[in-house]
Amino acid sequence: MTGLNTSHLQISKNTIRVAGILEESIVDGPGVRLVVFTQGCKHHCTGCHNPETHDFSGGYDIAIEEILTMLKENPMIDGITLSGGDPFEQVEPCSILASRVQELGYDVVAYTGYTYETLLKSRKYLQLLQYVDILIDGRFEIEKMDLTLAFRGSSNQRILYMQEQKEPAPLFLAI
Ligand code: SF4
Repeated sequence: MTGLNTSHLQISKNTIRVAGILEESIVDGPGVRLVVFTQGCKHHCTGCHNPETHDFSGGYDIAIEEILTMLKENPMIDGITLSGGDPFEQVEPCSILASRVQELGYDVVAYTGYTYETLLKSRKYLQLLQYVDILIDGRFEIEKMDLTLAFRGSSNQRILYMQEQKEPAPLFLAI
């Protein structure tokens, strides 16, 4: 815990606090993706490319239904990417969005500054992780920056296919 006060985060199940939405991207996961840049991040990595997403009181609220409409209206889209910020700071609305996205037949990529191992220790994080197909984990470490890496900024970050994990999350317990 960092001791940061995040009580001002919106708690609606129907909206997500975002820094912005990118309706088409080919650099935030496989295929063409709709990217949701969630607002709020505690990691403060040196060299972060999205510092405007750190402030939990920044950004704006967007209805989950509005994001789903964007997805359904664009036949080019292969899936959705939850980026940030850190989507694991808004597990409740992000898990609702991710579950709805999967129900529609799309896949879900999520970025996080936490490691997979850290996420596994918390029921709160598992609430979202259970709906993630590909997790890209770990803080951005500027001394390990590598511009040749696909979908990642530094070599400590991993692309983890959730179905291939030897020790899958103890999910999917009733949360
Ligand atoms: S986790 Fe991502 S958004 Fe947060 S500070 Fe690190 S690089 Fe920036």
